[in-house]
Amino acid sequence: MKQNLKGQCLCGNVKFELSDDFKAFYQCHCAQCQQLTGSAFASNIFTRPDNIEWTSGKADVSHYEHPTREFSKAFCRVCGSAVPFVNKSRTSLIVPAGSLLDKPSISPQANIFAAEEAHWLADGLKAHSFEGFPE
Ligand SMILES: [Zn+2]
Ligand SMILES: [Zn+2]
Repeated sequence: MKQNLKGQCLCGNVKFELSDDFKAFYQCHCAQCQQLTGSAFASNIFTRPDNIEWTSGKADVSHYEHPTREFSKAFCRVCGSAVPFVNKSRTSLIVPAGSLLDKPSISPQANIFAAEEAHWLADGLKAHSFEGFPE
């Protein structure tokens, strides 16, 4: 039996558990994922649609679906954090990697839609690192 992983939103209102049983892990650099996340790329882990147990705050999960295209997002309506959702075609549960508290056994397998990569990502990865705020 696979280990169970815990996840939650930032405010802790929404909590869930799922089995560490994933089929794919993609970092998506498309322009839509940049807008949905407000960051350079979306880190999404794919699993079967029923691999989730909401342990708290399920009623506070809001959903957005693009009216014509295959873009969705689920988020805590209190703090806005991304949380897992079933895709439009209902074939996968998509888990935002940052919503997991525990480390999944799967690692990113691919950077997809790399042609749309944020123009500041490459420089950002080369920028100096600090443990906290810069001094
Ligand atoms: Zn929250
Ligand atoms: Zn994308």
